[in-house]
Amino acid sequence: MGADKITFVRNYSDLSTDQGFQFEFYCDRCGGGFRNRFKPSVTGAVSGALDAASSLFGGVFGKAANMGERVRSASWKKAHDEAFEEACAQLKPDFIQCPRCSSWVCRASCWNNSKGLCKDCAPDLGVEMAAAQANRSVEEVWAHAAMAEEDKNLDKKQWREKIRASCPNCEAPLASNAKFCPECGEKLKFQENCPECGTKIAPGSKFCLECGHKL
Ligand SMILES: [Zn+2]
Ligand SMILES: [Zn+2]
Ligand SMILES: [Zn+2]
Ligand SMILES: [Zn+2]
Repeated sequence: MGADKITFVRNYSDLSTDQGFQFEFYCDRCGGGFRNRFKPSVTGAVSGALDAASSLFGGVFGKAANMGERVRSASWKKAHDEAFEEACAQLKPDFIQCPRCSSWVCRASCWNNSKGLCKDCAPDLGVEMAAAQANRSVEEVWAHAAMAEEDKNLDKKQWREKIRASCPNCEAPLASNAKFCPECGEKLKFQENCPECGTKIAPGSKFCLECGHKL
């Protein structure tokens, strides 16, 4: 009974007891379980004295804890088979077979409705992108951070250069290596040290304060 009859998902559980029948079917992809409604058994599970097998082996099998090993009445077995068929019919709409990989997957979380394929065959784009981002290596993240840091430094440098690249006299914009302002002719590259005595000279000075050398 059961396994050979099942026409969809690969795995299911038989939760049936003496009192009734219930089955749980599992999604091929995520393993999520779906149970049908418990169906009470109208006939007794064990037929007792009238059942030949039960009267012969009841003493032995009656002690077995596992229901499956107990001798069940023919009517219970028949009802069980019917209940299984019913459960299949009841739960089948919760699942759908992927035409590509032929897995039976739950519609609830493993089915890509727009693609008409299971999510293994047609993954959600958003989920995939999030996963790709999450998988970005630490090295990549650091490389990116380092690059941003470099950008900042570059900006600072450019900012400084921009300041330097305007004429101190007329504030005309200048090429950073210009020696004279093209607007007013102001000399732009100031010697930092006096060529005569080597004393440090403030930018814009016309004479060395130390030796009087004309700059
Ligand atoms: Zn699923
Ligand atoms: Zn598939
Ligand atoms: Zn100028
Ligand atoms: Zn000097």
